[in-house]
Amino acid sequence: MNATMSRRDALKFGGAAAMLATARLALGQDLTPSDEGRLAGAYEAGQYVLPPLPYDAEALEPLLDAQTLRIHHDKHHAGYVRGLNTTLAKLSQAQQTQDFSAIKSLSKALAFNGSGHILHCLLWRSMVPDGNVPSAEFGEALTGNFGSFDACRAQFAAAAKTVEGSGWAILALEPVAGKLLILQAEKHQNLALWGVVPLLVCDVWEHAYYLQYQNRRDDWVDSFMKMADWSFASKQYTTARSK
Ligand code: MN
Repeated sequence: MNATMSRRDALKFGGAAAMLATARLALGQDLTPSDEGRLAGAYEAGQYVLPPLPYDAEALEPLLDAQTLRIHHDKHHAGYVRGLNTTLAKLSQAQQTQDFSAIKSLSKALAFNGSGHILHCLLWRSMVPDGNVPSAEFGEALTGNFGSFDACRAQFAAAAKTVEGSGWAILALEPVAGKLLILQAEKHQNLALWGVVPLLVCDVWEHAYYLQYQNRRDDWVDSFMKMADWSFASKQYTTARSK
């Protein structure tokens, strides 16, 4: 079944997917197109886990330096995974003892760390050396929703640059109407719209760029747009639409 899906999706993706697969293989990775739409390695054997970066830490230089990427992944993302598992263990204990005195703080920690884990898994897949373009199908959807691919890129960049405090820009599919929307998130979880499927995300927490860009968030966002993996977003879109 998976193999069939994989072949069908690969055919839909055509040249862009083949180019991406080639690029990933050139980096020593063994990702097939069918892996692109999933958060592979984010949860295993009953625990949330830190998936490895899908490329070498140096792969995104000079737009994103290896030290920033390593610390971001190895320390910050790992912290959200740890926080998520710890919170779930405490929630399990609360359920067993029926002691819900800490439920407010545990609920907040669940949303913060859980959203942090998921968004960072998506972030690593949202960037690729040299960037790329959407599939034909996804490109049409972007044009239909935003006017053009360039207009979508402009809105996404503007959203990322203007998040208040620490947060994200998120291109998402709203499944009720099938609309594509660009959201801002403060921290990881605030300003969420329930039910959407995120397709492409940009982290604008200072830890994502400060070592290299200092206070110049706009420059970081402009660099992110050059690395944006629209092929991955296309795959996410196709997968979400097929559900
Ligand atoms: Mn981050």
